[in-house]
Amino acid sequence: MKAVKHWIDGALTDGDPRTSEIFNPATGEVSGTVALASVADVDAAVAAAAAAFPGWRDTSLVKRAQVLFKFRELMYAHRDEMAALISAEHGKVHGDALGEVARGLEVVEFACGIPHLLKGGFSEGVSTRVDSYSIRQPLGVVAGITPFNFPAMVPMWMYPIAIACGNAFILKPSEKDPSASLLMARLWKEAGLPDGVFNVVQGDKVAVDRLLEHPDVRGVSFVGSTPIARYVYETGTAHGKRVQALGGAKNHMLVLPDADLDLVADSAVSAGFGSAGERCMAISVVLAVDPVGDELVQKIVERVERLTVGPGDDPASEMGPLVTGPHRDKVASYLDLAVEEGAKVVVDGRETAVKGGGKASETPGFWLGPTVLDQVKPGTRVHTEEIFGPVLSIVRVSSYEEGLEIINGGEFGNGTAVFTNDGGAARRFQNEVEVGMIGVNVPIPVPMAFYSFGGWKASLFGDTHVHGTEGVHFYTRGKVITSRWLDPSHGGVNLGFPTNK
Ligand code: NAD
Repeated sequence: MKAVKHWIDGALTDGDPRTSEIFNPATGEVSGTVALASVADVDAAVAAAAAAFPGWRDTSLVKRAQVLFKFRELMYAHRDEMAALISAEHGKVHGDALGEVARGLEVVEFACGIPHLLKGGFSEGVSTRVDSYSIRQPLGVVAGITPFNFPAMVPMWMYPIAIACGNAFILKPSEKDPSASLLMARLWKEAGLPDGVFNVVQGDKVAVDRLLEHPDVRGVSFVGSTPIARYVYETGTAHGKRVQALGGAKNHMLVLPDADLDLVADSAVSAGFGSAGERCMAISVVLAVDPVGDELVQKIVERVERLTVGPGDDPASEMGPLVTGPHRDKVASYLDLAVEEGAKVVVDGRETAVKGGGKASETPGFWLGPTVLDQVKPGTRVHTEEIFGPVLSIVRVSSYEEGLEIINGGEFGNGTAVFTNDGGAARRFQNEVEVGMIGVNVPIPVPMAFYSFGGWKASLFGDTHVHGTEGVHFYTRGKVITSRWLDPSHGGVNLGFPTNK
């Protein structure tokens, strides 16, 4: 049984004796415990970060970049170990876990360019013998609070840039799959990052609340469900912090009648059931514009029935279990609700055969196979609520306009996709849809590291998205300097408002 601890000031720390259990989702067995930080534990991490900050801030840009390059090489070398840790606690298949490490590494690679990213502007001679220039400086101690579904990638959206900018960082990972955080910490140390610049506090609401209230924490990045994102944003900003809080999602794929239906079916199944649907950019609703519905459902079902569901560490598995028992039960409860709300269950994931086990509902572990619901009515709970599991809903619509109205009428605005061969229709969609990340014949349009990731509406509280140049902006504050080097003719007192001369 492993015991996952905190990482404070470059070392593992026990902290408060309170713990919670970690499960192996493929078997349902307890595989270890994770420490749950007290207020004193968080205070110790903040103190370590605050002490490390001035030295790191004053480390040259080039030296900071060198540490990032080294971290990148170490993380790449340990990617299999990282993927195995993720798979064992989250349940996702090994290849998918490797994919999240790769996408996280892209942010590290972006952050290696920090000397260029932090270049300011300079204007010579804004007034006679007066120059102006801008610089950006780190905030100080910043925190990242992250969800269970990407235990490596989501923290890596945050800390490479925060640290490259010269901040000291405290990670509060999900208590459901905390082990990845400690491998990251070890690799930072090996890369030469000074102790205290990267810390991990394991924990729950107690740790989160203390981070939100602590006067020395200047900025908080959060990714998780919408109710907690809203709470983190409101509480953090009320305590004077800069906060970016990314929330939940319900992503729709709009299928126009001219689309290639084989491409659509491949894309819908990949984006709906990859990582058992536990992705904030998963496609959970297909809006099939008449007359494509019947043919599309048939093509989706054919593909779903060929999927192999099994443990994440079995190379044959394409989809693993869900993260916890209560989460699996909640997701499965939507199948009965769907029937009550007038939808048709065309593939029932409770009946799916699990590799090495029996049918999903009877196999130990947190299993639910890929589920397809057809004739889902717009506005029902199954349609509007974030289910966050392997449940794909098909909604039949009569036109582009009806589909667009359904998407724009929703609570969330994280991701969406349009499938069509009509460039004009795609262009109109990208202009009219109220969503932050849009795919055109691409089902999971996660922006590259050099762009920024973030949704609209209840999918993001705050005004900066994560990583890319917006990430650099979030983790720094701007200054503009106006300077004049006097010469003998400087001119004396002038009470007028400064204007250029
Ligand atoms: P969650 O909101 O339950 O937890 C996220 C973090 O908040 C965890 O670190 C958790 O310990 C902490 N937390 C939970 N309850 C809290 C409380 N009452 N007070 C303070 N802190 C609390 O989310 P999750 O279940 O871990 O992750 C899944 C959710 O994350 C989904 O809604 C998914 O859409 C969302 N998500 C969004 C994005 C995005 O980019 N928008 C990315 C990944 C996941």
